[in-house]
Amino acid sequence: MNAPGAGSCRRAGCPNSIPAALANEQLCLEHFLDDAFLRTDQTFGRCREGRAMNPADVEWLLSDALAIVKNLEEKASDPQPQHRDRMLELLLMLANLHEYVAHHSVQLDRPA
Ligand SMILES: [Zn+2]
Repeated sequence: MNAPGAGSCRRAGCPNSIPAALANEQLCLEHFLDDAFLRTDQTFGRCREGRAMNPADVEWLLSDALAIVKNLEEKASDPQPQHRDRMLELLLMLANLHEYVAHHSVQLDRPA
């Protein structure tokens, strides 16, 4: 039986526990970072192909993911260097995405 509370990562076979900042995502830090990088990459990929961005992804990346990474970065008392590097890299990518969206009047295919 699983213990109540944050528990462990929802990815099958992942034994890592969930940091408080990721309770809503139900992911460990590593899987959260994997996810965020993948979605940022896909979002930029769609732009390069001239396709509309997925508004749900853009919204998640620029609000949830950004807030979570900032939170993790501030609260981590002893971040592992490789996690810290990835968090900073992700922050940079999210900043780029933010710029991109602001300057290109990106077409979001919002449902009418
Ligand atoms: Zn995990």
